[in-house]
Amino acid sequence: MALQIAIAGAGLAGRLFAWALSRAGHSVQVFEAGLGPAPLFDGQGAAAFTAAGMLSPLAELEKAEAEIARLGWASLRLWPQIVCQLQAPVRLQCEGSLLIAHRPDLAAAQRVLARLGAEAAGLERLDATALRSLEPALLHSGVQAWLLAGEGLIHPPQAMAALHQAASSVQWCWQTPVRELAPGCLVLQNGAEQAFDWVIDCRGLGARSEPLTEKLRGVRGEVIGLELAKHGLRRPVRLLHPRHRIYLVPRTPDELVLGASEIESEDRSPVSLQSAVELMAAAHSIMPSLSEARITRLDRNLRPALPDNKPLARAEPGLIRLNGMYRHGWLLAPALVQLLLLQTGLGNLES
Ligand SMILES: Cc1cc2nc3c(=O)[nH]c(=O)nc-3n(C[C@H](O)[C@H](O)[C@H](O)COP(=O)(O)OP(=O)(O)OC[C@H]3O[C@@H](n4cnc5c(N)ncnc54)[C@H](O)[C@@H]3O)c2cc1C
Repeated sequence: MALQIAIAGAGLAGRLFAWALSRAGHSVQVFEAGLGPAPLFDGQGAAAFTAAGMLSPLAELEKAEAEIARLGWASLRLWPQIVCQLQAPVRLQCEGSLLIAHRPDLAAAQRVLARLGAEAAGLERLDATALRSLEPALLHSGVQAWLLAGEGLIHPPQAMAALHQAASSVQWCWQTPVRELAPGCLVLQNGAEQAFDWVIDCRGLGARSEPLTEKLRGVRGEVIGLELAKHGLRRPVRLLHPRHRIYLVPRTPDELVLGASEIESEDRSPVSLQSAVELMAAAHSIMPSLSEARITRLDRNLRPALPDNKPLARAEPGLIRLNGMYRHGWLLAPALVQLLLLQTGLGNLES
């Protein structure tokens, strides 16, 4: 039966739900505070646009529990099925990712590997020859590297645009912030109240007005967009460094994203000179050809996180909440959306 469904928030979770529910034949309306479907890269708006798009269930075990990895592997199985049903192209690749450390930092790197627990035993240690053949663009002498097989990457701006485009029967209401919501009911900022069969709360940090999500906090992340023709990097790579924990993600054959792991702050101000210099110096230390890269974008945003850094995926009659995906949104969203769709009988990402 076709139902009337309202979604609050057109970030990653909101767009995945909108696409899945419209495919299932429901009448879907999305209410979003932001100006329109495209990102402004102004430090506001959906964290999903700023994200690097690493799909790293193994590497995330450093800071997350086994359940996150389990959901991550489930999402890695769902992403290819989702992407192949979208009309617009979305870059998705699952050829593994790399951890790399300069030799003097091996002790710090070993401590990180130890935090990955039993899974670390499955990591493939790469000698210089193996590293050179896998990733010729990376420095291969004076470093130690490990391959995390099966991990992947997705192109977040492409995926966000493709989900919006594919959900064409959805009614998208931009510049329409939601003030509060309850089972089957949603109140807009202007006081207008509307009734629906189901309401889905995907407002990220905008959901702090609700008791269940009032403890959400923003965890700042900074990224630098780089352009370097035929840069040659194929897989995401994380530098294990005692101070400068950075990652580099190839986005297209000519574009990369460089980012810093996380900063416990809700500061949305632009990236500082020191931060940018440190990030770029650390990246250059593992990929010397970056000296010729052009900086195309300096961006920052806040990851929505709950006190335990675990996601909240909950359904009660008439109301679904998905929030607190923290630094794993792209890794977790398909598995969590699927869980909630099946629990409520509203749809199925796989069908
Ligand atoms: C720098 C950075 C790097 C990251 N890298 C990765 C990565 O490599 N891999 C990974 O898996 N994850 C990564 N993430 C995390 C990922 O982006 C988030 O977990 C994910 O975006 C959360 O999705 P969401 O839909 O819950 O929230 P969001 O994507 O933030 O979307 C929330 C939406 O709700 C809207 N909204 C807010 N308030 C209201 C309101 N009152 N009414 C209506 N709409 C409202 C917002 O405008 C926004 O569009 C990264 C995040 C950052 C910031």
